[in-house]
Amino acid sequence: MIITIRQNASSDERAHLMALLCRITGSQSPIAATQIDGREVIALDQQRVDSQAQAMLQQEHAVERLHAIKVAYQLVSRAFKSAPTRIVVGEGHDCEQVIIGGAEASPVIIAGPCAVESREQLLSTACAVKKAGAQILRGGAFKPRTSPYQFQGLGIEGLHLLAEARQITGLPVITEVMESAMVDAVAEHADILQIGSRNMQNFPLLQAAGRNSLKRPVMLKRGLSSTIDEWLLAAEYIVAAGNPNVMLCERGIRSYDPQTRNVLDLSCVPLLQQLTHLPIIVDPSHATGKRELVPTMSRASIAAGADGLIIETHEDPDTALCDGRQSITPEQLRHIVHSTRTLARLLQEEQAMLTVA
Ligand code: PEP
Ligand code: MN
Repeated sequence: MIITIRQNASSDERAHLMALLCRITGSQSPIAATQIDGREVIALDQQRVDSQAQAMLQQEHAVERLHAIKVAYQLVSRAFKSAPTRIVVGEGHDCEQVIIGGAEASPVIIAGPCAVESREQLLSTACAVKKAGAQILRGGAFKPRTSPYQFQGLGIEGLHLLAEARQITGLPVITEVMESAMVDAVAEHADILQIGSRNMQNFPLLQAAGRNSLKRPVMLKRGLSSTIDEWLLAAEYIVAAGNPNVMLCERGIRSYDPQTRNVLDLSCVPLLQQLTHLPIIVDPSHATGKRELVPTMSRASIAAGADGLIIETHEDPDTALCDGRQSITPEQLRHIVHSTRTLARLLQEEQAMLTVA
């Protein structure tokens, strides 16, 4: 159930509603409201709102409308909001602003190394990916590695280097946050908070990203073996905690064939477009694990309707401290940027012709 709050509700009326909601849901902590399309909304578990509770809510002055939504993920569903979500990246930092999602936006290219390895590596890669046409810089400062003996990232120093790279190139930056206690520190430096596959169901982390005081957008990667419903419910956690700016990232799911690192589930792109209004990014690097597959799968992702790509790029992939096998060079990135933009333009032209016909 979704409650829309009346725009001119007084603070007393709001406080009255919040107290009633705490009683209805049995919640000890304050209920969060989220701004979606200029409307302030609260989502509740439908089962907790019986007819008596509904009648009480209808009487509340602060309540504009109750919407009964029949899917488990409510705020992120198309059933609740039909227009695609458009996220502005880079607000609050002195850098270019990039739009992700929305009908008129063209696909966004995010590129950079898997991990921030050193100042020299990051700054030269950042300049090279910008020159190749990328609009957002990626780079992991905190790396969730399968083995405790592998490079774990530079941590806070990596965040400072990302901020310096933004200052030099003007590109907004995205980096992973691995624990709730670090959300505010990462949000201070990053323009997008990345939640990695291994943490897709770390619910306290999702809620902390939803509450982040700087309101940074979040990119939520699909869990290693997550279903689409689990993924959308994870996104719902972030939105329900107060942050409507969430994008989903398909990065391949586990299967049995070691020829590719994962299986890129491109059918999820048009399916998600039916189920949710959130933008969809595809990561062909982690999906395939092989750099020679990245250009084709980048084009395939755009053809499937993705709002953007995140591509691991390194100036010398064979010496990368992390994920070198799947990393491409800035020169290869330049070709991908060119071909995916050409493809996106053709698809848009074709769409425009179909609309006129
Ligand atoms: C990454 O983006 O470097 C990463 C660790 O991705 P994932 O969480 O998809 O494995
Ligand atoms: Mn990686």
